[in-house]
Amino acid sequence: MSDNALVDIVRELLGEDAAKIISILLEKEETSDDELIQKTGMKINNLRRILYQLFDKNFVLYRREKDREIGWYKYYWRINPTGINILINSIRKKVLAKLKDRLNYEMNNMFFACPDHQKNRYTFEEAMELNFQCPHCGKRLDNIRNDEIVTILKIKISEIEKRLKMQNL
Ligand SMILES: [Zn+2]
Repeated sequence: MSDNALVDIVRELLGEDAAKIISILLEKEETSDDELIQKTGMKINNLRRILYQLFDKNFVLYRREKDREIGWYKYYWRINPTGINILINSIRKKVLAKLKDRLNYEMNNMFFACPDHQKNRYTFEEAMELNFQCPHCGKRLDNIRNDEIVTILKIKISEIEKRLKMQNL
């Protein structure tokens, strides 16, 4: 998965600020609190809250170090590759299940369409209800093949299965 795709997933799950933090953390091995404040312009409390959410979801790890001069702990954050792989795999599994459902649907149905309105596809039952007449123009609905869709679905399914197998090694 590309860095951009990861940032998009984090944005969807935890919002824009979390996505911003992840994209900064992807730039190098480790980033301190101070640097994150500087680069995001966030307030410390807000930043900590979001880092905690990211930590809670296993997207990030931290290390802390006592600053001898000021006596406080400094936190250094980094991406957690294991947690991210688990997330990516669970997303892939969901996508795979959906693709398999769709493939089943495509393989177990006959489809019909009007030669002039090919965007609208009807199953046999739907076409029967319409008396095999296009609801837009009244032309006869033809039986259409879906080999192309089936082929594409099969390719996508095998790609995802291959990736999942590679991750489990
Ligand atoms: Zn039509």
